[in-house]
Amino acid sequence: MPDAAAHLPFYYGSIARSEAEEYLKLAGMSDGLFLLRQCLRSLGGYVLSMVCNLQFYHYAIERQMNGTYAIAGGKAHCGPEELCEFYSKDADGLCCTLRKPCNRPSGVEPQPGVFDSMRDNMVREYVRQTWRLEGDALEQAIISQAPQVEKLIATTAHERMPWYHGNIARDEAERRLYSGAQPDGKFLLRDKKENGAYALSLVYGKTVYHYRIDQDKSGKYSIPEGTKFDTLWQLVEYLKLKPDGLIFYLRESCPNPSMAASAAPAPPTHPSVSKNLGPLNADGYTPEPVGKSRVLPMDTSVYESPYSDPEELKDKKLFLKRDHLMIDEVELGAGNFGCVKKGVYKMRKKQIDVAIKVLKSNNEKTVRDEMMTEAQIMHQLDNPYIVRMIGVCEAESLMLVMEMASGGPLNKFLSSKKDEITVSNIVELMHQVSMGMKYLEEKNFVHRDLAARNVLLVNQHYAKISDFGLSKALGADDSYYKARTAGKWPLKWYAPECILYHKFSSKSDVWSYGVTMWEAFSYGQKPYKKMKGPEVISFIEQGKRMDCPTECPAEIYALMMQCWTYSWEERPGFFSVENTIRTYYYSIATKTENGPKAEDKSKAAFP
Ligand code: AMP
Repeated sequence: MPDAAAHLPFYYGSIARSEAEEYLKLAGMSDGLFLLRQCLRSLGGYVLSMVCNLQFYHYAIERQMNGTYAIAGGKAHCGPEELCEFYSKDADGLCCTLRKPCNRPSGVEPQPGVFDSMRDNMVREYVRQTWRLEGDALEQAIISQAPQVEKLIATTAHERMPWYHGNIARDEAERRLYSGAQPDGKFLLRDKKENGAYALSLVYGKTVYHYRIDQDKSGKYSIPEGTKFDTLWQLVEYLKLKPDGLIFYLRESCPNPSMAASAAPAPPTHPSVSKNLGPLNADGYTPEPVGKSRVLPMDTSVYESPYSDPEELKDKKLFLKRDHLMIDEVELGAGNFGCVKKGVYKMRKKQIDVAIKVLKSNNEKTVRDEMMTEAQIMHQLDNPYIVRMIGVCEAESLMLVMEMASGGPLNKFLSSKKDEITVSNIVELMHQVSMGMKYLEEKNFVHRDLAARNVLLVNQHYAKISDFGLSKALGADDSYYKARTAGKWPLKWYAPECILYHKFSSKSDVWSYGVTMWEAFSYGQKPYKKMKGPEVISFIEQGKRMDCPTECPAEIYALMMQCWTYSWEERPGFFSVENTIRTYYYSIATKTENGPKAEDKSKAAFP
């Protein structure tokens, strides 16, 4: 899982005890000086290294079965950060309280641990093979879904390893290990017939030894009395470094002959993988598979562009043929331009569900021009977290044909499912919005109307930014767009420089992102209560900001406040915003992994 301490400035990752002591020495050896490092022995655990009376102390922090963290004999805490906070107030058995964090010197990043790089490579390979993704689509999938993919991998990764021999009997394991050379440490892993347990068979001194692998109630694996691990492959990797109770450490894998026969890697075992959404519930949402892994954005038909297939790309044009479009009578929504209808668009090889924005026939020319500008902007964008424009159709009326996001606007969804959607679910969705916005920032586009009503859901765990009616493409050398006159503007979402100087940039989109976050974490409430636009402006000018929504985590509120930095020069950009929310999202994905309440709440969303 992502590292729950990755964001802490006093976290050094996988460094040795001696290195930790060097850093503490350099920082002055004052009483209570401390740092945190990764523990190799217990997976997901840490070591707290500290100074008291010019002596070093090292305390192992174990990750418990229920996902909490504790120093042996001490109280449990929901994360390493909370644990350090606790010991800064109360020594509770430590040599003294934690007084001063020994932060990493500038330029020093946390050292990746032996499992971290393996894990990263594995996630990459898994996503590449399972969803056949490459390039940007692959990168975006990894960033947005790493915690979910890691959970999937945890249960299946060993099946792809050459040392995994599946369900073979003990004497067959011996036959395989005795054939060919028999160096010390040659090993294989096999299923035991009884109740899905595993066994490790190992050569030492030309003799084969067999070890049972136990699995505890929380699903962790270990050899009897040995260190516990979340996955079998981590157990094996660890036993390659340390014997941990075995007669010898693991050295050379005895390759599974059936795996060697097929040159290609074992097929992925992801349970859902269908590129279609499948049947929708009556209320338009994809039901969450209960007990199994849920539908990931990459499982849906709208993750990749419909033109990602080179055959289909040949037909990509802004104007679409009317006879390729079937319009349903079902209305998805409405605006002052007209209505949005459901439909199907026929491509070369497939038919796709679409949403069609139909212009009212009696609309003036300006509305029509606005709609064409929106179409031209959207046509240049291609990102999994932005509603894609398929094209424009000029027939009985002007129509914009877009990808379908059948879950509807985020604010409505959250206000109707308040008791069922967890905070971590909202963090996941808002992280996706930040990824879409980071892409816009990179492409030099400003959205100018980012709000929860313009974030549409594909399903409960997949959001896309929509409504580019006010958007602008900036010139290559411009960092902002200057509106000549003020229009019908969503003032409550606008940064001070938009209202005062009509200046719009990615930084003003960041302000709107802050307001959108506020709406999301208050489950779809309207921002600034009953205030009118001009009242909001004077509220902001007085240095006031909206309060933290009741259930909103402090880290998220801190980010909102950063987004509402008065001066746009000092406000963070989306590169930084995405990074901050990603770190928080990964850290809670780690914590809620075994957190009962949170998971229950999200499961109840689609009974
Ligand atoms: P808009 O004027 O773009 O905000 O669209 C009005 C309403 O139509 C939205 O609030 C949605 O309910 C619906 N809608 C717009 N675009 C889509 C889409 N791509 N997929 C599904 N529904 C949409």
